Amino acid sequence: MFKEFISKVLQHDNVAIFSHLRPDGDCLGSQVALALWVKNNGVEVSAYNEDAIPENMTWLLNSVSIKKPRPADLENYDAFILVDGNALHRFGGVAEQILKTDKPVYMIDHHPDPDDIFEAPVSVVSASSTCELIYHLYAEHDVDQIDAEAAKAMYLGMVTDTGSFQFDSVKPATMHAAADLLERGRFTPNLIAEKIYSSRPLRQLKLLSQALDTITLHENGVFASITITQEMFRLTDTSSEDTEGFVQYPLSVEGVKACILFREDDNGRIKLSLRSQSDDIDVNKWARNFNGGGHQKAAGAHYEGTLADAIKDVIAVGAEQL
Ligand code: 5GP
Ligand code: MN
Repeated sequence: MFKEFISKVLQHDNVAIFSHLRPDGDCLGSQVALALWVKNNGVEVSAYNEDAIPENMTWLLNSVSIKKPRPADLENYDAFILVDGNALHRFGGVAEQILKTDKPVYMIDHHPDPDDIFEAPVSVVSASSTCELIYHLYAEHDVDQIDAEAAKAMYLGMVTDTGSFQFDSVKPATMHAAADLLERGRFTPNLIAEKIYSSRPLRQLKLLSQALDTITLHENGVFASITITQEMFRLTDTSSEDTEGFVQYPLSVEGVKACILFREDDNGRIKLSLRSQSDDIDVNKWARNFNGGGHQKAAGAHYEGTLADAIKDVIAVGAEQL
């Protein structure tokens, strides 16, 4: 599957890799591991993201630095690679200008419905994570090129995109890949778990406690919602980055098949995060009603309007799938 991608990418002299806006463990892990692969195979590489790197993942930057792109930077490269997203707008304003350069744009990703603009696309919706795909890229080319830094980066993305290997996207092959990364990188699962999950500031837990209080059931307990307001951010001295992982809590309520996190952002919009744990409820379709998207079981979108209207409209659209 990677043959064409590998041979084409390695013919360039200088490539830039972009990860998606509001970066997470999977896009950053993919970006770092892929940048190391490109560099190890003799191609100059730079890595870009328009947004800040979450504090619990800044250790990734020890092996690859990730810069904020400027429009003029695009001139320096022969080609571009997008990881963990399949639509240019997920990568920000500078990335959206890539097409105008007429240079090849590659993509490695696991979201449904990719744009058709990509060169030798690697698009595998069944993959647990983009990092699992990057592992297979190494495996098809030369698996011995996986060093400790690349192994940790890929393992990070696999852990974070699978809810610590709990989601049904996890297959035996996912575990084989993760085990191989642990062996090659000579680290234990606990090392990454501690970096990611045991470094929460207290204020984030205070915010969580306020948010948990808002969990509400809808449609006879089939849906649950959780709400985070600007006032909660103010009271706890937190911001939108501190809500990572909150969406799993309403999903853990007995009987709930799907949930929505509603977050008031400082730009006046409501950020929606949708999760399903039922084959009957497709949150990708659900989010597309609000110009968003994602996967069948995890998707996101933005809503223009008040929180109360968002809750009413989003639940009503979801109820049509029942
Ligand atoms: P989250 O709820 O964690 O922000 O995102 C869950 C999934 O939905 C991610 O895989 C992400 O790619 C996708 N997603 C989140 N927000 C958006 C959005 O605004 N538009 C689209 N197309 N996908 C989104
Ligand atoms: Mn991902």
